[in-house]
Amino acid sequence: MSNQIPLSYPDITDAEIRAVTQTLRSGRLSIGPKLEEFEERVADRVGRMHGIGVNSGTSGLHLVLKALDIGPGDEVITPAFSFVASANCIEYVGAKPVFVDCDPRTLNINLEAVERAITDKTRAIVGVHVFGNPTGMAALAALATKHEISLVEDACEGLGGSINGEQIGTFGRAAVFGFYPNKQITTGEGGMIITDDDRLADLCRSMRNQGRPTPRQMPDEDDNPNDREMASWLTHERLGYNYRLNEMSAALGVEQMKRLDELLEARSMVASSYIRRLGAVPHLILPTIESNVNMSWFVFVARLNDQFTFDDRDEILRGLRRHDVGAGDYFPAIPMLPFYRQKYGYQPGDFPCAESVSHRTIALPFFTKLTEREVDLISQTLELMISRITFARD
Ligand SMILES: *Cc1c(COP(=O)(O)O)cnc(C)c1O
Repeated sequence: MSNQIPLSYPDITDAEIRAVTQTLRSGRLSIGPKLEEFEERVADRVGRMHGIGVNSGTSGLHLVLKALDIGPGDEVITPAFSFVASANCIEYVGAKPVFVDCDPRTLNINLEAVERAITDKTRAIVGVHVFGNPTGMAALAALATKHEISLVEDACEGLGGSINGEQIGTFGRAAVFGFYPNKQITTGEGGMIITDDDRLADLCRSMRNQGRPTPRQMPDEDDNPNDREMASWLTHERLGYNYRLNEMSAALGVEQMKRLDELLEARSMVASSYIRRLGAVPHLILPTIESNVNMSWFVFVARLNDQFTFDDRDEILRGLRRHDVGAGDYFPAIPMLPFYRQKYGYQPGDFPCAESVSHRTIALPFFTKLTEREVDLISQTLELMISRITFARD
């Protein structure tokens, strides 16, 4: 195990370690200056008014749907091909997820199928930038506007990316970023809601903090928002949650945000190396990135063509792992997961693109410090594993 090249690895420097240590020494471990600074940095970078830090991307999505007052009887459109949280957040509020299949080229939601899925119960669309690719998000926003429903961006895989100069996180009524250790920046665990909507921001701020009133809602003219937040400690205006992001995590996030461009650049270099190295490998489909996209690379996922079965792919994954390459199988099609299959009775074949893609993906090790030599080694091993399958078949 110790020699394995991991699937992902966080990029933490002494600056991050110092910042977290300083926060620990400061005595202020929750609801403090680091959270505010982190929120400001992310909101500024995306180009929106409000940032509300939360303890995970999933919590952020939950709060946004709550704040939009989505609940039982409502339908929310969400991609069949995404991370499970894009659908679970809809279940949390008691609404019905309506899954829509993917576009085989971009792996993002199929726009024509979204339009067909809209009913008079549809209240929102969860738009995911799958693997950091924003292709189609403007069209999805236009569709939401046309039908007077909300677009919620699940931007958990896309911090810092843009399309035609428009930043990921500016398409929806609100967007949610995630900071788990495999993301572009990390806070250990964490997430952030980004929005220009004052009311939505206030509601999310209150709900993440046990339903306490937010400083903005209080008449007090005291200009220290932290004191005001403390003064209202036992006031609970609505059903809230404890989804706060702690100060150590926020301090880590601040340092990571200072390095965002450097981190994105390093990830982009690794992706380019893979594309150079794997571009000519037969049977392998690489991500297609259009020229108007400034990609925020979340993962590097290659795909086998449809001559390969689910079992072939899994054999290749096992082979890679045997050769100390930490490869993964992102993502299973969400409607085919036990919870959703049992609850809604989906059958194999209901989501042909998501199912076909999910059976053929190979996520390769992807992190800033991955060297050219390692990319070479990984690529050679992958090529070998693919040729073994085709050799046995022919
Ligand atoms: C990472 C991710 C999330 C949020 O994950 P958390 O672990 O809750 O921070 C949500 N949606 C997608 C698509 C993700 O990739």
